[in-house]
Amino acid sequence: MTAELASTPAESDCTTDILRERGQREVFCGLTGIVWLHRKIQDAFFLIVGSRTCAHLMQSAAGVMIFAEPRFATAVIEDRDLAGMADANEELDRVAGQVLARRPDIKTLFLVGSCPSEVIKLDLSRAAERLGKTHPHVRVLNYSGSGIETTFTEGEDFCLEAIVPELPESSTDNRSLMVVGALADVVEDQFVRLFDALGIGPVHFLPARNSEDLPPVGPGTRYLLAQPFLGKTAAALEGRGATRISAPFPFGAEGTESWLRAAADTFGVDADHFESVIAAPRARAKKALEHYRDALSGKRIFFFPDSQLEIPLARMLHTELGMELLEVGSPYIHRSHLDCELPQLPASTQLSEGQHVDTQLDRCRAARPDLTVCGLGLANPLEAEGLSTKWAIELVFTPIHGFEQAGDLAELFARPLRRRDVLRVS
Ligand code: SF4
Repeated sequence: MTAELASTPAESDCTTDILRERGQREVFCGLTGIVWLHRKIQDAFFLIVGSRTCAHLMQSAAGVMIFAEPRFATAVIEDRDLAGMADANEELDRVAGQVLARRPDIKTLFLVGSCPSEVIKLDLSRAAERLGKTHPHVRVLNYSGSGIETTFTEGEDFCLEAIVPELPESSTDNRSLMVVGALADVVEDQFVRLFDALGIGPVHFLPARNSEDLPPVGPGTRYLLAQPFLGKTAAALEGRGATRISAPFPFGAEGTESWLRAAADTFGVDADHFESVIAAPRARAKKALEHYRDALSGKRIFFFPDSQLEIPLARMLHTELGMELLEVGSPYIHRSHLDCELPQLPASTQLSEGQHVDTQLDRCRAARPDLTVCGLGLANPLEAEGLSTKWAIELVFTPIHGFEQAGDLAELFARPLRRRDVLRVS
């Protein structure tokens, strides 16, 4: 999917040091978030209101689950639906009714907007309201995954933003911690154990694994972002009284330590106790990273704007593995959410926000980096030109947060370089 659009960094307050680009973008659309969200929220169904193109994208991004009962589908807008809005709404109600009759285990139904539904101005918030009345046992929400105005990780931001008004009001002003951003279950379980050992609690996660476990929110809520692409969700939480804990993102040994320390400081955890809890997992993470240091140290890396994970990952690759940052591009740079990340980047790094793919390709070709992180559409042409690439989307599909995943994260960057070396020798 490509779109020639001006970016809309409404939430960015970047300085002039950042190269702002406007032009053709090469990114997946927000529907892609369904791939990891449907695994995370285990009693939700994502009904895309879109075209056959949307259905093909989802099937190829998620793999076709022939034997499983999938929890996403596309209500395809046909030509006759385009002719009359009443027909489109009737058709949507019929398809949603079929899905819910067949899947009584579904507790939340997300109607996910697409480019076609936005072009014909199908009002999915009214549809969600209508369907919620017809199916009172199901929570029906809507958000947009349209490629007209989103990059692929914004799908998660819009989905979580849609959940926030549904969160119960916290019954107490006592402090509680909310970790915000979809994490693989194994990572979530590791963090639960660490927070428990630190004596921080109660701890809740957004999104929750089940629709019935929605985390409460209120003035006592302190939230930690686990992902850097959740600007709208963060604003919605703050609208409900929650306060963000400023922290780097939990990538690598140092990033994870700093993320946990920010929570520990907020909850008044004693420094010696903090050290005793994290010493062993931090040592394991550092040892795992050390294994990759020779392969990655001094290697020059170039990030195309794609997942919005670019800046925290670049920080980790530079400070913990010695990689040299050439250009770090991100679709949007939310400066306040990155306040602990940006100062750690070396001054020589070219930051860019938004995308003009042609000019960025020119800069990449001129720099000849050892490794280029980019979308699928750019990877093959760049490989054909002799550049090693890493697909940005893999960084979202793979568990990479926390101490225990630090080695896996480094491996994602080391593998293409190893492959290049093997191909050169053979
Ligand atoms: S939402 Fe838009 S960009 Fe995404 S698959 Fe559908 S038509 Fe393509």
